Amino acid sequence: MSIFSRFLPKRKPVEIKNNIPKEKENIKKTFGLYCHKHHNTKDDKLCPKCTALLATVMTKMNRCPYGITKPICDRCDRAVMCFGAKQAQEFMSIMNGTQKRMFLSHPMMAIKHKLASMGVDYAKFQQEKKISDKVKAKEEAAKKRAKERKEKK
Ligand SMILES: [Zn+2]
Repeated sequence: MSIFSRFLPKRKPVEIKNNIPKEKENIKKTFGLYCHKHHNTKDDKLCPKCTALLATVMTKMNRCPYGITKPICDRCDRAVMCFGAKQAQEFMSIMNGTQKRMFLSHPMMAIKHKLASMGVDYAKFQQEKKISDKVKAKEEAAKKRAKERKEKK
């Protein structure tokens, strides 16, 4: 072992979890709750409209450009591109309007979904911070250059 090895960053294998099956399960349950309440359906059955929307969501999820690293669909910026404006809105309103009920009937699943959506917020925050740091650094550099130019004159 060389004396420098301890200064090298330790490499951790990146573990990518596939959360899509869980997300699908959560979305199906949420649709079930919503449809039973608003469209008087029962058990595993959904009304034709909810069935169609759910089918669209499941298909689009399989084709998600982010792959298994995708954020959850009901918090994703691309949802409108994936589902179209109308279906995205219906999907969001079903998901958001039903999450409270999910806490009562499937608390663990709802909490995990909530955590996943917080993860999306955190990733977005980090991304925006990185961008604003870059902008700041550029501004600082520009100021410095301007100052140097002035001093030369
Ligand atoms: Zn329905």
